[in-house]
Amino acid sequence: MPRDSLLLGLIGQGLTLSRTPALHEAEGLANGRATVYRRLDTLTDPLRGKSLAEILDAARITGFNGLNITHPYKQEVLPLLDGVSDQAAQLGSVNTVVISPEGRLTGYNTDTSGFARGLEEGLGGVPMATAVQVGAGGVGNAVAYALATHGVEHLYVADLEPARAQALAESINEIVGRKAVEGIGLDGIEETIAGASGVVNATPMGTLHHPGTAFDTSCLTPDHWVADVVYMPVETQLLADARARGCRTLDGTRMAVYQAVDAFELFTGIAPSPERMRQTFLSLGLASAQ
Ligand code: NAD
Repeated sequence: MPRDSLLLGLIGQGLTLSRTPALHEAEGLANGRATVYRRLDTLTDPLRGKSLAEILDAARITGFNGLNITHPYKQEVLPLLDGVSDQAAQLGSVNTVVISPEGRLTGYNTDTSGFARGLEEGLGGVPMATAVQVGAGGVGNAVAYALATHGVEHLYVADLEPARAQALAESINEIVGRKAVEGIGLDGIEETIAGASGVVNATPMGTLHHPGTAFDTSCLTPDHWVADVVYMPVETQLLADARARGCRTLDGTRMAVYQAVDAFELFTGIAPSPERMRQTFLSLGLASAQ
């Protein structure tokens, strides 16, 4: 694959509406690289029924420069790679694979670096001592790691499924080597939020399919910062309530854009323009979930 062009792809399921291909193609072109970004969807022919190992091998031998990995392959991909960054190995989750000219596959996690960069940019300087995160799924895992390694001393994590919150806390505490995260129940969550500096929604609450908020937002005061990972809509009910109560807020588009910014830089070695990628992202419309 000549260095003046880029061949990229997204491996996952249900990728029809993903805006990631258009985002990378536009940024590649803006950097002087003809860029083709393929959806590699195992629910769709001709990849239906193919194994992840087969698809990785095909990408390797056909000269792909890199891949993004999404649901349900972020964990499954790890043992199939030649190398994994320390952060992705610790998290047990890879969303970006760089393919060297020699065909070596190296995995990274830009969900966590993307959330951290968005946090620094959108909520720089806020008090971070104690925070509450609601939602302990795939995104919640990356977000909790970012919070615990970017200034939050004590993070309470709650989930509809308490075992998930406990498991997330145990795994992040093991990674960071301190009791940074505590799994808690949803009962009394508003009192815990009232005593914290900030709160993050990492549940699907606020999306079109799950309207509303994961907790009663009357507990928010102007001293709270509030972040949402949901970006469709950009202005979730939580962010609207938080703004009305005078809180500083961070919407989900920052994480979505910065995970792509970091992936693009890993793929190409070129630092892309975050602002241009954000504008591209927003111009694509926010009618899909990935
Ligand atoms: P997931 O299904 O893996 O996890 C969601 C978790 O939230 C589950 O553990 C579930 O039990 C919990 N939950 C659901 N409703 C709850 C409630 N009312 N109270 C407490 N816990 C609740 O999903 P995910 O992959 O972690 O994605 C979560 C959301 O993140 C998606 O809906 C999507 O909108 C958003 N997302 C954002 C980005 C981004 O870059 N900003 C990327 C992917 C997904």
